[in-house]
Amino acid sequence: HSTDPLLRVETLRSSYGRIEALHGVSLSVASGEIVALVGGNGAGKTTLLRTISGVQPMTGGSLSFQGRDISRASPHARVAAGIAQVPEGRQIFAPLAIEDNLRLGAYLRKDAEIASDLERVYDLFPVLKERRRNPAGGLSGGQQQMLAIGRALMSRPKLLLLDEPSMGLAPVLVDQVFEIIQRLNREDGVTVFLVEQNAFAALSIATRGYVIETGEIAMEGKGEALLADERVREAYLGV
Ligand code: ATP
Repeated sequence: HSTDPLLRVETLRSSYGRIEALHGVSLSVASGEIVALVGGNGAGKTTLLRTISGVQPMTGGSLSFQGRDISRASPHARVAAGIAQVPEGRQIFAPLAIEDNLRLGAYLRKDAEIASDLERVYDLFPVLKERRRNPAGGLSGGQQQMLAIGRALMSRPKLLLLDEPSMGLAPVLVDQVFEIIQRLNREDGVTVFLVEQNAFAALSIATRGYVIETGEIAMEGKGEALLADERVREAYLGV
């Protein structure tokens, strides 16, 4: 249905053994948006992303993508449907060449446009092209984050899920990575859902945002409205 959001998360629950980490999370991401989910350590951000991509089981609620229920779809079926995750800590394959890491992102594809998508990734991240034959392990933290984003783009996602893209990066690199995320959204039409502890960086580029606290959505609003909110400023912006 054309009025369905691209992603709908409804009263989602997820547990580690007997410990429930997500207590019924509901949110949505419309096509074309950049949506940020901010929250502190252990709030459940990573668990939520991993549940959406299907690598972490859900124990209740439902997930739909483009109006279709994907609650029981395998992780690779979700990738094939257009959901790609950039995992926390990048998880690149250090001994493999940069270009081989990128090609792994296209492993489910059989179409003829893989080569032009690789050129697009190199256009976004020239440093990856310069060093494409070198082992990925030799890249700096910021370059590895770029590689992880590039690898996710090689699956041609409609929805890009990013887990703490700013983690471990110097401020200037955080700005660079967030600029690229905006370009992908604007120029390539990729819808973005990102989770961050760096609330300032994330809400600054977000159309809309959510605040998660101990496995529950505590607030929701436009990016700039949350940035201006007294409670958000005290709890997450240190002001
Ligand atoms: P961070 O920013 O530190 O990654 P987060 O918001 O991503 O935090 P999660 O990693 O999703 O939070 O953790 C949510 C809750 O689930 C926490 O209470 C955490 O201790 C718990 N948890 C996470 N991973 C596991 C696991 N593998 N086994 C048991 N409990 C876990």
